[in-house]
Amino acid sequence: MNQSNNSKVENRTIKKIGKQDLESQFLEFISSYHVSTNPYELESASADLTSLPSYHYKFKKQYLASHIIRPANVNELSRAIKKCRERNIPVTIRAAGTSCFSSATPSKGGVIIDMRRLNKVLEVNKEKMIVKVESGISWLNLIEALADYGLEPKTFPTSFKTSCVGGFIATPGKAGIGVVKYGPMEDSINSLDFVKPDGSIVKILKDSNDEITLKDIIGTYGIYGAISSVELSVTTLKTSLEIIGYGFDSIGQAFNFYEKLKVELPNKPLFLSISERDFEKYSHINFPERDWLVWAAFYDDPEATSKSVSDVKYFASKMNAFEVDSSYLKEKWRDISDAEVSIGLSARNLIFQEYWISDMRLESFIDYYVKERRKYKFPTASYAISGEKGWTRVKIFGLTDISKPREFFTVKAFLHDLSVKAFTQGDRLYTIGIVNSFYLIKYKPEEVMKWKILKDKLDPKDLFNSYRLTKARMKFWRVALLFNTAKILYKIF
Ligand SMILES: Cc1cc2nc3c(=O)[nH]c(=O)nc-3n(C[C@H](O)[C@H](O)[C@H](O)COP(=O)(O)OP(=O)(O)OC[C@H]3O[C@@H](n4cnc5c(N)ncnc54)[C@H](O)[C@@H]3O)c2cc1C
Repeated sequence: MNQSNNSKVENRTIKKIGKQDLESQFLEFISSYHVSTNPYELESASADLTSLPSYHYKFKKQYLASHIIRPANVNELSRAIKKCRERNIPVTIRAAGTSCFSSATPSKGGVIIDMRRLNKVLEVNKEKMIVKVESGISWLNLIEALADYGLEPKTFPTSFKTSCVGGFIATPGKAGIGVVKYGPMEDSINSLDFVKPDGSIVKILKDSNDEITLKDIIGTYGIYGAISSVELSVTTLKTSLEIIGYGFDSIGQAFNFYEKLKVELPNKPLFLSISERDFEKYSHINFPERDWLVWAAFYDDPEATSKSVSDVKYFASKMNAFEVDSSYLKEKWRDISDAEVSIGLSARNLIFQEYWISDMRLESFIDYYVKERRKYKFPTASYAISGEKGWTRVKIFGLTDISKPREFFTVKAFLHDLSVKAFTQGDRLYTIGIVNSFYLIKYKPEEVMKWKILKDKLDPKDLFNSYRLTKARMKFWRVALLFNTAKILYKIF
């Protein structure tokens, strides 16, 4: 055996010993059921809906984690994080993994900390209308727990059946159920318990102005540490829910109606969205006839709900709107938590991008999308969900298959062109994760610089949820070159 082969064998042995040694150190304080090196688990927890695991890891095997651990409480969480810091091991915080764009997947191997055993309701106070929960609790479990007290959360994502409270805080949390009525996630948070990348535990109050503030943590993808628990203000359970749906022949008409419901209704909808007929077509067996559809759900006491519905009917009667059949409305609301994934049944891989567009530019942005897609043969679909005041999250899907690489990359190129349009017109992308960080570096360098100052202070070696917001795995010019080439090849062949 020559010298270089010898050193490879040595390296492998050191790595193996290091891996076992790390595992035994975790086992000192985490039960053996919750320290895993199972290859199947590692692959699935290192991926998400958008990262096409087998394609992704063919090129990026070094991204795969070596361990998944599931701490049961804040002390185990803190010890695990401290251990990783001492040994310079990268850490990825993961809850339900529904946020996509590799937000909760590793970028340089190391340890995935699955937060879902930190799932206890710690306190419910009906007088103060607050709940204190561990951050790995799913929204569904929280909704069920609060229902026993006649309470419920104000705001949560449509992925509520699986996604967790901490995941919605660390992603933007600005669009979803309850946002139009009660405001974004940020507005419901009173305080957080937080574990910094060195393992120390701090309490962060709504208005505190310490080293890390609440604003630093919201929507920053866990780059500054892990939220272990949170105190939320909640609302009372209501008794009457109605959903309405109207169809329109143009995006302009649909947008006017959407704006009226968002701005002019005194009692705001719990949920508000616009979808394109093709979005309904690819996600449901039946679908309405009109090209653009507006959906709203009202949730209140019976009198307030019925007043809102009659206000909507009045607006609709003046606006050339076609009422959607009530059987479809029931189906729509029943499937609301699957709305963004059912469309995957029509394509082998879900490829999409999420744009965060000002309501002032929403109609022109969608118009631009409609014009652009005429250049291509692959099917597309769009779905917009109202966010906080003045903003909408627009999700655009391109339906294709990884087995058609030219088309696959052209779909990505089409979504990329829309991303460039969003940034150049003053808007941005909604979910950033690992995949979209390079756009921020190109278009929002001042914001990136601000995040970086705190990141360098708390995590100088960039080991904690790295390559999100402050650093990118990809370069803008390379991606643009790849996608422009794909578009040329698509046109030629
Ligand atoms: C069908 C569907 C519907 C959706 N609907 C909406 C919607 O209405 N609105 C919306 O905004 N999004 C929506 N999403 C996106 C996603 O579901 C949400 O962002 C959700 O809140 C993510 O929660 P999660 O538990 O899956 O977090 P994960 O995906 O596991 O994590 C998200 C990010 O948060 C970090 N993180 C997770 N937990 C913690 C913690 N305790 N401390 C620090 N960092 C943490 C992770 O590292 C990662 O960067 C939807 C997704 C799907 C698939």
